[in-house]
Amino acid sequence: MSNDIRAVCVIGWPVAHSRSPLIHNFWIGQHALKGEYRREAVKPEEFETFIKELSQRGYAGANVTIPHKEVALELSEPDDRALAVGAANTLWFEGETLRSTNTDVEGFLANLDQMAPGWDRGLDDALVLGAGGAARAIVFGLLSRGVTNIRVANRTFARAQALRERFGDNVKPIQWDEVGGLLAGTGLLVNTTSLGMKGQPPLDLRLEDLRKSAVVADIVYSPLITPLLAEARDLGLRYADGLGMLLHQAVRGFSLWFGVKPEVTSELRSMVEADLVKPKE
Ligand code: NAP
Repeated sequence: MSNDIRAVCVIGWPVAHSRSPLIHNFWIGQHALKGEYRREAVKPEEFETFIKELSQRGYAGANVTIPHKEVALELSEPDDRALAVGAANTLWFEGETLRSTNTDVEGFLANLDQMAPGWDRGLDDALVLGAGGAARAIVFGLLSRGVTNIRVANRTFARAQALRERFGDNVKPIQWDEVGGLLAGTGLLVNTTSLGMKGQPPLDLRLEDLRKSAVVADIVYSPLITPLLAEARDLGLRYADGLGMLLHQAVRGFSLWFGVKPEVTSELRSMVEADLVKPKE
């Protein structure tokens, strides 16, 4: 490959499912850039060496996905956001220094801004289901928008408690079986668990108790419309889907690597949607 081509990759184990190459190569083509975005399947025990050789391998940066996001943070110089979330998903070079950030935060917020404008106006109460890596990014994002009462419910209660320890008293851990009783007072409901994903059971929730002004977000994007979002839609509630978050979180990495801020257009969305519903070979 000639040296004037900028290469970037997504590193994961496994990584075949990642839609990041589709998104970034679409933007590379749209902006007529000399670039290439690849997949790199890297085992956990080989990750550190791979990262140390990232530049030698010809990469200007990378996305990092499961299971490497926490180690990526340790091996780089994180910004405040990645540090607060405790995980990095985007790496780039500033001179010789490998920097990192977490773009799930802005992906989640920008998608809500686009799909449910004004969602945070007067919003006090949010209910977040799940307490994993994505939940940490989302709780951080909600706090940054001034939401003062964020309840977090998780199957493993201790992980919900850990979010309060990380982010402070505006985060209130609750038991998983309390969720149904709290819906009436919730302005924003967010699913960050893998429930509702293809091959997983749906969330066992009835949304009728939510007020009409409530917004529902699901970060699962396969299927595009999860059972939770289908119910929200049928009840006439505003909702934001996981694909929108995935597309919006990609914007910052592309800007850092290629110096061009790309747009999340309906054409990009349709292309990724078509890939998500395509039968597996
Ligand atoms: P993670 O750190 O592994 O957390 C998984 C969460 O799901 C935990 O809270 C876990 O609860 C919960 N969970 C799993 N199975 C469950 C079950 N049967 N019943 C109740 N809770 C269950 O994963 P993550 O990185 O946060 O990702 C979570 C989901 O978000 C994945 O589906 C991922 O694909 C999606 N995601 C989407 C985007 C996007 O851009 N749209 C970005 C990031 C992640 P326990 O703690 O009790 O195990």
